[in-house]
Amino acid sequence: MTDVWMPGAQRLDIGDHAPTDGGPAKAIAHITWDRNATAARPQDLVSFEALRSYFSGGGKSAAPHILWDPFTGRIVQFVPANSRSKSLVDKSGGTRTNRAGSVVVQVEALFFPYCRVDGKVYAKLSDTPCKGWKELNAWIRSLGVPDVWPMGKPQDFTPHRSESTWETHAGWYAHAHVPENDHQDPGSWPAFVTDTPAAPKPSPAPSKPAKPKVSVAHLNAARAKDIPASTGHTTYPAEVKVVEAALKAEGFLNPLYASDGSWGTSTDKAFNKFRREVLHLTGDDATGSVGLYSLKALASRHNFEATA
Ligand SMILES: [Zn+2]
Repeated sequence: MTDVWMPGAQRLDIGDHAPTDGGPAKAIAHITWDRNATAARPQDLVSFEALRSYFSGGGKSAAPHILWDPFTGRIVQFVPANSRSKSLVDKSGGTRTNRAGSVVVQVEALFFPYCRVDGKVYAKLSDTPCKGWKELNAWIRSLGVPDVWPMGKPQDFTPHRSESTWETHAGWYAHAHVPENDHQDPGSWPAFVTDTPAAPKPSPAPSKPAKPKVSVAHLNAARAKDIPASTGHTTYPAEVKVVEAALKAEGFLNPLYASDGSWGTSTDKAFNKFRREVLHLTGDDATGSVGLYSLKALASRHNFEATA
């Protein structure tokens, strides 16, 4: 067994240990219900110290394993988890209660309906901050008690008890679910808290190489400078090379010519051919400076992006 004493809890061993019977691991949810308050007449919560003194003194014979203060997170443990405790009635004959599992961990939450704490009134245990619940839930889970309510999560104070469920199902039970008992607590309980591992970050989609961008303005600048200059003069060689490769692929530029990045006469002729033969442009539209329309048409066929 893991820690029979809850790590981080105050250990106040009251003795009187006795083995459990084995079987489905259970936890029993109680509230201390020390005072009868109402919405109209709330009452101050009893102090944690008073309850701790009670269960380790005069109330020993009804002590749970755990007294939990949901307002501050303080927890005190009176007997080890592998011992029975005595918060349940166990009539002679019939089914067993306090011992009916590999563990039967009883938790008394320091609470009563319409208790007042720091001027605020709480109708249900689940309305409180439930400090320390996550750790308590985790420790009890580590003892083999699954995060389930075989008879349903307590929603109110209506008791319903099933001896056959009790005898065969592991998990959390309200006192209101335990056979041979007449208590109706706890009326509500916080939700189970699990540390869900952080979702793995979606791995970034394999990034496509960005499409090269080719600017009409750059091509025309290159055209204006490269044609009159000596062969091989370049102005925007990277962008011109993209267009040259496309024109070769279209069959308008001799594939044996170097893609030199220079917008020379042969490149200019090749682009004009593309305009005429593919785009069916004529006249001035098929010659002269490069237009965005025709560059976009070439770009869409050769996986680059044409910009102004
Ligand atoms: Zn109870």
